[in-house]
Amino acid sequence: LFSGRVDFLLSAPQLKFLPEPDFPEIAFAGRSNVGKSSLINALTGRKAIARTSVTPGRTQELNLFEIGNPTQLRLVDMPGYGFAKAPPKVVEKWKKLVRSYLRGRPVLNRALVLVDARRGITKHDAEMMDMLDEAAVGYRVVLTKADKLKASELDKVAEATAQALAKRPAAFPVLHVTSSEKGMGIAELRAAVLSDS
Ligand code: GDP
Repeated sequence: LFSGRVDFLLSAPQLKFLPEPDFPEIAFAGRSNVGKSSLINALTGRKAIARTSVTPGRTQELNLFEIGNPTQLRLVDMPGYGFAKAPPKVVEKWKKLVRSYLRGRPVLNRALVLVDARRGITKHDAEMMDMLDEAAVGYRVVLTKADKLKASELDKVAEATAQALAKRPAAFPVLHVTSSEKGMGIAELRAAVLSDS
């Protein structure tokens, strides 16, 4: 499926700009710079679909990608969070958009919460997971940039992350370890996204 058609569809600054809920959706969440665009590119096998199509002004919008011909699935790139100097107004707008999407989109089947392997789960990531739990949206947690750590360090982070996840109310979110740069864990995550959709 992912080797077929992949197209940028649109950017939605508000829920009302979303297309009809005709297909299952998988949403991507994560701190700014966590490697979200790179992961979408790696999963879809496109070099720059999530970058070329998304102009800087659109970073506070939901960016939708369509997969399959005919379309079978939509990927929804949610705006990144956790940037240091975001004015409260921007954060409020972000929350409103993301919360309304998570709560008001029946075709949203699963979210992927991306976490930088070098940092582990941050306060902002935990808040994102809280929002998902409140909206009753199931999620997977994806450690990104795994190639930046030694195998022994990576084991430690994965273990600590799994332990933190086991304490969350949602029943054991699955943990994935990936590197978009090296292709690590990408085929497995792609299969997981397909089984979720
Ligand atoms: P976004 O802001 O979450 O969309 O993040 P990007 O995908 O633009 O990535 C942010 C930075 O991290 C870029 O410089 C990427 O080249 C780098 N990056 C992303 N994924 C990986 C990875 O798997 N390994 C390494 N080493 N760098 C990565």
